[in-house]
Parts: sequence; structure tokens; C-alpha cells
Amino acid sequence: MSRGSPQLKSSADLTVMRRAGRIVWEILQEMAAAARPGSTTGQIDRLAERLIAEKGAEPAFKGYRGFPGCVCISLNDEVVHGIPSDKRVIREGDLVSLDFGVVVDGFFADSALTVPVGVVSEEARRLIDVTRASMHAGIAAMRPGNRLHDIGHAVQQYVEGHGFSVVRDFVGHGIGRQLHEEPQLPNYGQPGTGLRLKAGMVLAIEPMVNAGTPEVEILSDGWTAVTLDRRLSAHFEHTVAIGEGGPDILTLPEGVPAGREGQLDLAVIPKTA
Ligand code: MG
Ligand code: MG
Repeated sequence: MSRGSPQLKSSADLTVMRRAGRIVWEILQEMAAAARPGSTTGQIDRLAERLIAEKGAEPAFKGYRGFPGCVCISLNDEVVHGIPSDKRVIREGDLVSLDFGVVVDGFFADSALTVPVGVVSEEARRLIDVTRASMHAGIAAMRPGNRLHDIGHAVQQYVEGHGFSVVRDFVGHGIGRQLHEEPQLPNYGQPGTGLRLKAGMVLAIEPMVNAGTPEVEILSDGWTAVTLDRRLSAHFEHTVAIGEGGPDILTLPEGVPAGREGQLDLAVIPKTA
């Protein structure tokens, strides 16, 4: 990836990106509710494909570097980039990470969440909570005048302070007319370093947090990243615009009051089947 400066988005660009972001949120909600014991990850992918078409959007991931699905679905020790399949059955106690994006009028939005299926272990529950909260700690640092690595530092401090580890092999990213734009946004780093944040930048922040060590490996399908120690992993992501007054999460429904975003993420946890 080149090290160009990030593209600043106009307010007209942000209007379109917010539309894309709301569609991503709505479809993620539907997929989270469909992640029940006995359903397959292939079924969830087809649900997403149908909803994308109904909402007049296009899938962001299908065909991206040859990825076959509309959504990445990663279970338990899978970190990211799980390929949906009719052979992959979701079970009670699983952690299901859904990573999903769409394109609307040429602009991308990208978001992810991890949902527990039914009753999960205490560690799994804590891992979800810590990953989600670490993302919001990072988002709080997305203000004009701060530096890029202030964001990752906030994520890392939160995660490591709770005894978990931050994956290094995958990072967040700028987003806009392309899914992955400059700059790369690691979920770790030295505060006070990196480029100066400006209003109009849009970043996808996406901590991947492991219960054990941070190392991952790629399975023989060429896509699925799993934890090297095969312990659990969780993933949350939002597409966030940096506004003059601070962060503005684009991958949420309309009318969420500032400061309530964390509570809203909780609303996606599906009922026990
Ligand atoms: Mg994503
Ligand atoms: Mg992303």
C-alpha cells in the first residue's frame, strides 16, 4: 500500500457514506439475529445478499481479491475472513464474528461485530465486552488535532489492561471511494505519533482481540485467519468520520445520541433460540 495522504471527504460525500453505513448496520442486525444454533454461515450470507439487493446497494466484499461471499463469518478461534459455507453449522455457545460492507453510489461502509450464540463461556462474554469497549476507546481518540496512533494506543491500553491481546497482522484503514484507503490504522501504537487527524478523514477502526496470544495463522483455504493458540477471538468495527467536534460513527441507525453508541452495539445480541 502506498503512503499517500488520506482523502478528505466533503459533506456531500459523508451524506452518501452515512446512507451506506445505515444499510450496513441494518443488515448486520438481521444477520446477528439469524446466527442461531443449527443455521449455517452459508444461509447468513444468502440473507445478506438478498437484503443488499432489496436496499439497492452492492456488496463490498464479494469478489474482493476473489473473496466468494458477501460477508466474512468467523467462528470462535477464527479471527477474520471466514468464508461462508452451507457446511458450516453454528452451535450453541459459539462466538460468531460478522464483518460486512456495502457500496452505495460509489462509496463504501464497513462494520463488524461479534455475537454470542445462546449461553457462552464467561471468558467469551468478557472478550466480546472488552473488544467492543476497546473500539469505543479508540473512537473517542478520533478528534481533529490528535495523532493517528493515539487511536491504536487507546485500543491497546484498554485491551491489555483487561488481560487480552491485540492482533497485529490486520489493521483498520481509511475508507471512502475504496474499501481500503490510506492510512492504515493499527490497533496498537505510540501516543503522539503518526499523522495529524483532520476533520473530513474517514477511518474504519476494527480491533481484533485474542483471549490468548496475538499471533494468527492463515488456514489452507487461503483466507481464514485463526489464532495460533486456537483460543477465542472477537472483532468489532465501525466506519467513523472525524468531524470538527469529534467522532461521528457512520455505521449506526439514524438519531443515535452521542455517547449512546456503546449501548446500541449491545442491542445486536440475539435472543437465545
Ligand atoms: Mg470490515
Ligand atoms: Mg475494515
